[in-house]
Amino acid sequence: MHIQFCGANRGVTGSCHLFDTGTKKILVDCGMFQGGDFNEGRNHDDFPFDPKEIDVLLVTHAHLDHVGRIPKLIRDGFTGYIYMTHATGELAPLIWEDAYQIMAYDNRKFGYPVLFDEQDIAVAKSRCKGVDYHAPLDLGGNISAVWKDAGHIFGSAFIEVSAGNMVVGFSGDIGNEDVPILKDTESLGDVDVLLCESTYGNRIHEDIDTRRQIILNLIKDGVQRGGTIMIPAFSLERTQEFLYELNKLSEYDETLPNIPIFLDSPLAIDATKVYKKYPDYYDVEASRLHSAGDDFLDFSQLHTTYTKLESQQINRIPGPKLVMAGAGMMNGGRILHHASRYLSDSNSTLIIVGYQAEGTLGRKLYEGARHVKVMNQEVDVHCMVKAIGALSAHGDQRKLLKWVGSAKKAPKQVYCVHGEPVAATELAHRIKDQYKAETFVPEYLEKIEI
Ligand SMILES: [Zn+2]
Repeated sequence: MHIQFCGANRGVTGSCHLFDTGTKKILVDCGMFQGGDFNEGRNHDDFPFDPKEIDVLLVTHAHLDHVGRIPKLIRDGFTGYIYMTHATGELAPLIWEDAYQIMAYDNRKFGYPVLFDEQDIAVAKSRCKGVDYHAPLDLGGNISAVWKDAGHIFGSAFIEVSAGNMVVGFSGDIGNEDVPILKDTESLGDVDVLLCESTYGNRIHEDIDTRRQIILNLIKDGVQRGGTIMIPAFSLERTQEFLYELNKLSEYDETLPNIPIFLDSPLAIDATKVYKKYPDYYDVEASRLHSAGDDFLDFSQLHTTYTKLESQQINRIPGPKLVMAGAGMMNGGRILHHASRYLSDSNSTLIIVGYQAEGTLGRKLYEGARHVKVMNQEVDVHCMVKAIGALSAHGDQRKLLKWVGSAKKAPKQVYCVHGEPVAATELAHRIKDQYKAETFVPEYLEKIEI
């Protein structure tokens, strides 16, 4: 048996792992590389395997960097089924359609090629099969897979694949502690080999207990400055967590400043509908609110702007106001329109709430750039830029170590993926010290025998 690392190696995006059991070729995730823009060159490369030979695709969760190249996989000849949790099966097509819209826009405007078209998306949708958490899926030939809750985004999972007497764990992305709405990350089973994400393998987040207070203080600050508070929204999860916290601050604590709040992202608006459809996935607190009839993703100050026209009308509303708009790393989407208008406004505030990949506009602003290019226009940055780690959808080093140690029997080998080299390497050292496992930071396209 062997595993080949086909993406997210010594980098955070482009997740794709090939597990060849000798009788079956199983692909786990098929995500997009995200860098400067949606046309990050490597996405257009041929896959390092023949898609026609892949028997089955297993998906951990619906983030673009885990599902974004699936329609391309179909286009390039993959004919098998795609298994994922039910919610992921509904969220992934939203992600594909959103990516397609952005690529089609870039194609019209700049002549960039598209990775896939609507027909590929339709075929990909028809191949998706929903699975329940904890229900082993028989893949034939003494091979099975089970999805367990990763607590990362709605419907997210880590997957354990058993082949003969070998069990391989694929972490997908592991969630932060005590995330609103979501259940906690489940314990890892007894796996022999683990592919473990390491996005924040070298970082410890701020104390999460203060999450709501941090949000409130940032909003109050922004309101005092009088301008626009911009939050580049990761349409899956961070947006819904934000809405959940804002709902609490607005309806229960009654401490939220009375300003208009805009959810300016069709993708986030559609994704929020999927959250409302699967109350079984809620944690205890969210279930309690749901049973009491509280629509905890909606409150009186919230305005959703679905159409382009509605979005443009936000400009006419005087500050202070808060706008959540995609994309989360500012590499496309409506946030760019707000950024081009308000980054240069010293009364405005930009709040960065999640991981920013190298090369993205969000990363540049996070690192303190005072002069950036937005939609081909030079913009001087005068607004206040703030970042909050506690709102990350990823667990930090402490959480990742705890999760690896949650198995009754520590994995024998751990491959740290989905992290920049310094983060992956530090996590690998820590896991080795703490659990005496052999650890590795594999290279892109490296193949290992197991
Ligand atoms: Zn993710």
